[in-house]
Amino acid sequence: ATDFGIETALKQLGVKDINEGTSTGSNNFSNGDIIESYSPVDGKLIGKVKSTTKEDYEKVMTAATAAFLSWRTMPAPQRGEIVRQFGNKLRELKEPLGKLVSYEMGKSLQEGYGEVQEMIDICDFAVGLSRQLNGQTIPSERPSHVMREQWHSIGVVGIISAFNFPVAVWAWNTALAWICGDVCVWKASEKAPLCSIACQNIIAGILKENNLPEGISCIINGDYKVGEMMTKDTRIPLVSATGSTRMGRIVGVTVAERFGKSLLELGGNNAIIITPTADLKVVVPGAVFGAVGTCGQRCTSTRRLIIHESVYDKVRDAIVGAYGQIKIGNPLDETKHVGPLIDKDSVNTYLAAIEKAKAEGGNVLVEGGVLEGEGFESGCYVKPAIIEAENHYKIVQHETFAPILYLMKYSGEVENAIAVQNGVAQGLSSAIMTNEMKEAEKFLSFSGSDCGIANVNIGTSGAEIGGAFGGEKETGGGRESGSDAWKVYMRRQTNTVNYSDELPLAQGIKFDL
Ligand code: NAD
Repeated sequence: ATDFGIETALKQLGVKDINEGTSTGSNNFSNGDIIESYSPVDGKLIGKVKSTTKEDYEKVMTAATAAFLSWRTMPAPQRGEIVRQFGNKLRELKEPLGKLVSYEMGKSLQEGYGEVQEMIDICDFAVGLSRQLNGQTIPSERPSHVMREQWHSIGVVGIISAFNFPVAVWAWNTALAWICGDVCVWKASEKAPLCSIACQNIIAGILKENNLPEGISCIINGDYKVGEMMTKDTRIPLVSATGSTRMGRIVGVTVAERFGKSLLELGGNNAIIITPTADLKVVVPGAVFGAVGTCGQRCTSTRRLIIHESVYDKVRDAIVGAYGQIKIGNPLDETKHVGPLIDKDSVNTYLAAIEKAKAEGGNVLVEGGVLEGEGFESGCYVKPAIIEAENHYKIVQHETFAPILYLMKYSGEVENAIAVQNGVAQGLSSAIMTNEMKEAEKFLSFSGSDCGIANVNIGTSGAEIGGAFGGEKETGGGRESGSDAWKVYMRRQTNTVNYSDELPLAQGIKFDL
């Protein structure tokens, strides 16, 4: 871990091997089993953290619930000031944090920096929003009455995050939750625990400088069993969970059973429709980056290309040609496009998916496979594959979190392609490549894409923070980040005030005593 400045980055972020001294932050509460974090980049041990026991969890919740009582009394713009300072600190630490993301998770350094940039962007957004948590006034049907709607902080927000965006997803949630007056308890993925320690250290420093309790931001470490402590905890009114549909199905039910709210950001099965008028200059980079970026481990990764038969051969050849240019290797080396998968389990899932696609009749256009030899010692580097397939194949219906791209044909009108695009259980991101205005508008209309994200002449991945992010169907229905996603972090209260001397009842009901 000495090359690419990783050691320096770990020092700057205060992330140390537990044997050299536990990291700072609420993580001090954790006393359970050791979790080791190995880099998929070179297979080396980066560091260790302790997992959170039931007793540790109680300490965290005591700190969080106490902090909430004071934090919610602080005017929202002052909470925004804390988020502003946090964003500035992230600007200072963008390089080391981006490197840690790249090294612990395996995405390219550019994407690691991009993730930190997303954190900075959402902080800026949240600072402005801290002066705009506006309710509304509503005309009352009764004389000398006024109705209004207020937004109040909700309490302790539980955050469960996936390995593939080990820092940004936390920030999307926390930046908004904090300005809303909530406090957060975060369980990061057990596959990227050091990223969460780094983030906690950064915010802990800001809170300390401002004499604020660290309970405003807490982390707990461990696998799903630690996550379950939160999903079952009635002291947590909102659980925001990002990860697989399998996880969301369990978390959603558990939280609903106790009448908590959940914000679910789950798997996708994203497609690009490529029409006869599509511009290849846009299609090729959009589709290739979408399919192989982050080694196919984005929830918005492009999994399917639905190509009009009249341009099928041309598009297929251009994409297959572009795959020949892809450089796979150490993601910290900026000349490489594609890094490793997260771990060997993921490699096995990828290999099995290719076999299943073949067994169902798929025609492999670009062979997959695991890379071996110098630079690939971790065993997690794989070749992005392209397979001609049909939408109804079981494996195509399923999200495989790896760089496998399925190509399929459509004929006739765009409605046929839209039906294929919508013909999966997931509903996260979608795109159409067209220069035909009517096709684009059909795709965006109520009878078009059924996804939470629908793009025109842009690929499926790489959303900006300004819009609400999330998807329908098995993607879980949650929205976070921009637009009015902040409302889920607050509770809505409707007020009716009577400033007359009478008590008229609503709906004209008479109740004379
Ligand atoms: P995962 O479901 O295995 O784990 C996600 C998180 O959930 C981890 O922190 C895990 O410990 C926790 N978890 C799992 N089961 C749990 C349970 N029963 N109770 C409480 N917590 C539990 O997912 P992963 O492999 O880390 O991430 C990949 C998945 O995440 C993909 O499906 C991807 O599409 C999805 N994802 C979605 C979005 C989105 O915004 N829609 C963003 C990123 C990733």
